[in-house]
Amino acid sequence: MSPIQPSPIQQSLIQRDRSVLWHPYAPASDSLPLWQVGDAQGIRLQLRDEAGQRHEVVDAMSSWWSVIHGYRNPLLDAAAKRQLAQFSHVMFGGLTHEPAVELAELLLALAPSEPGQPRLERVFLADSGSVSVEVALKLAVQFQTASGRPRRQRFLSIRGGYHGDTAAAMGVCDPVDGMHSAFPGLLASNVFAPRPPSAGMANPEDIARWKDDVARLASAHGDELAGIIAEPILQGAGGMFIYPAECLRILRDIANEHGLLLILDEIATGFGRTGELFAAQHAGIVPDILCVGKALTGGYLTLAAMLCTGEVARAVSSGPAGALLHGPTFMANPLACAVANASLKILDGGAWREDVARIETGLAKGLTPAAALDAVKEVRTIGAVGVLELRDAVDVPAVTQAAIRHGVWVRPFRNLVYAMPPYISTASETALIAEGMVAAVAEVHDRAGSA
Ligand SMILES: *Cc1c(COP(=O)(O)O)cnc(C)c1O
Repeated sequence: MSPIQPSPIQQSLIQRDRSVLWHPYAPASDSLPLWQVGDAQGIRLQLRDEAGQRHEVVDAMSSWWSVIHGYRNPLLDAAAKRQLAQFSHVMFGGLTHEPAVELAELLLALAPSEPGQPRLERVFLADSGSVSVEVALKLAVQFQTASGRPRRQRFLSIRGGYHGDTAAAMGVCDPVDGMHSAFPGLLASNVFAPRPPSAGMANPEDIARWKDDVARLASAHGDELAGIIAEPILQGAGGMFIYPAECLRILRDIANEHGLLLILDEIATGFGRTGELFAAQHAGIVPDILCVGKALTGGYLTLAAMLCTGEVARAVSSGPAGALLHGPTFMANPLACAVANASLKILDGGAWREDVARIETGLAKGLTPAAALDAVKEVRTIGAVGVLELRDAVDVPAVTQAAIRHGVWVRPFRNLVYAMPPYISTASETALIAEGMVAAVAEVHDRAGSA
């Protein structure tokens, strides 16, 4: 007899989910609001709610910022099918394949590059963003050991940052919001610099003061720090916070001064999202180590990459361990690499720049009316990112539901309702997203709006 019991006919998929699955940052609960996705095409999702009712929504989240070219993109579909017909996976220990080599070459060709700055020359393909951050942190520690500074095991991170959910990555996330208190025995003790001043309000004195604070920390802890880690220009899951490019140049200088590796986490910002292909390019700097993920495969498959300079790669390879000590089972998964190559070729065509500019204009215009709502503290945009910061925590289920009624899928967190639409969003789809966000916030959080 099969151990798998057919579920009772009257149970909906959503009910079955609730009795067996976990969802992100969620309790194991039978009352979690959920919608079932039946179909996805372009920027549209077909949802079904618990009562079985259907809703068509535009996806303002790009499925957590990854589906930049939309669902069922013909070029990405074709790349996946081509690779599927050859092989989906082979181990990467002792073997190699065309999709991985091509991907490394493409990434290095597209990565930030500036005269007089470090040169990114080597790629490690990891299976998720968090893992690429783990690899970056381990590489930095191995680099310092190989350079005769084995005491340098800690990192200087920026308050308000988010770098992933694995242990070392959590250890460099914001120490207050970043779940540190739940895992006191598990997380490394790192050094946290204040958040930079906000891009919208920064004046030269604020930036100078911040620079002094960071420089002081780097001096005080210099001989125990392996590197500095930051999300360039836009802190994403840590608060959708935008800061001036000048602050990135300051981090680069301080890293140089103290022999620290600069690790930029572009998992959220990479591949055009902020209006430059990489956010580091707003500041004209190149990190020693770069992490990318999320949009790398156009949101089709899980894949991330860690890029580093030739200097770092050579030092670690000739250090005491003689190797970079990491090697995931699904490293360089060929199917994921093949789709990533198709996605990078679309980006290399250059149309993303116009797309992101169009979305930026549309979000800036469409979200402006929210500034008049009592509940809204600030409206901000950068590239294809639009943020409504509320004065208080968002009623997530209520705002989600209200936005769905307006034909928009959003996933607010804390006091933030934001959009990061796929690059293929047209002007009218972008306007619909902004209208839906403003209307949902007005209906749920604003007296004037609901009156
Ligand atoms: C999403 C994200 C990560 C973690 O990536 P996962 O693929 O979810 O592990 C790390 N850093 C930043 C900046 C991110 O936005």
